[in-house]
Amino acid sequence: MDVWKCEECLDCPYLPLCFGGCRFLQRLQTGAIDGIDCRREYLDAALEKIVRQDIELRKRLFEEKNEGGGIFLHI
Ligand code: SF4
Repeated sequence: MDVWKCEECLDCPYLPLCFGGCRFLQRLQTGAIDGIDCRREYLDAALEKIVRQDIELRKRLFEEKNEGGGIFLHI
């Protein structure tokens, strides 16, 4: 499916993350591979928490790696 032609996706701020959702799940749910598997409700509810968790994990890994005296930052 070409999400660039889907009005719903074109107006969505999550398009760079989502690209219309998962084709496999779409196939399981509807039997068709075209169409969108919209996760906007989930992203609205969870994205901020996911980003905060990722930042905390990266900070913790950075601190753990630097306890040995070296300076490493893996992004
Ligand atoms: S969240 Fe929904 S509307 Fe937004 S890009 Fe994904 S499928 Fe399209």
